[in-house]
Amino acid sequence: MTMRRIGIFGGTFNPIHEGHLHLIAGFYQQLGLSEVILIPDYTPPHKVANDLADGEDRYNLCRIATHGIPYIRVSDYELRRQTKSYTVYTLEHFADLYPDDELCLLMGSDMFFTMETWHQAQRIFELATLCAGARNAGEYEKLLSHAQELRKKGARAEVISLDALSVSSTEIRESIKAGNHAPQGLPDAVQKYIETVCLYTEERPEVLRYKS
Ligand code: ATP
Repeated sequence: MTMRRIGIFGGTFNPIHEGHLHLIAGFYQQLGLSEVILIPDYTPPHKVANDLADGEDRYNLCRIATHGIPYIRVSDYELRRQTKSYTVYTLEHFADLYPDDELCLLMGSDMFFTMETWHQAQRIFELATLCAGARNAGEYEKLLSHAQELRKKGARAEVISLDALSVSSTEIRESIKAGNHAPQGLPDAVQKYIETVCLYTEERPEVLRYKS
């Protein structure tokens, strides 16, 4: 049996946007992945949780945005664990589920450049191949040289060539807060859900908030 390559793509997805989808498509096409597992996190350990929508809403948005893309699956694993979302534990979980396959940890450039500082980085290097794509134009060479650095530290690292789509969830949230109903980089179906349940606006009625 040939070893399959399974993409693991974690993030806050607050909300999911075209930049995420563009990156996943690039990985899928260039790395020969069998599937991509999208994993919204519970609380992000390496950044301040700012305007964090409820996990259920972020999960629903991921499902809506990837509906009809057969190779993407959305996992609620980290949301269900309800602890800080350290990647190393998530990888251990999926390594148990896919013992005969290669896990490919997918990420944008900002994450890739900080990889060495992640909790139990050496263990992450053992569990997965690190795969990176650009968030901003002109990052490709820098990504390649960082991949070399990571290889010297024992990691397996791959870089894809991508026309960067420099959109961010922060910009989208700020745009919505400023009254823009259709910010650039937001898929239509995601925009409709956000508008329906009044996400990221100050006047969100309490009745629309998810309670666990
Ligand atoms: P925020 O603005 O709230 O920090 P974000 O837009 O950076 O959010 P995350 O959910 O934190 O989105 O990112 C999840 C993963 O997607 C990370 O690996 C990140 O590098 C990557 N990513 C986010 N936006 C892009 C983009 N525009 N192009 C490529 N990769 C991206």
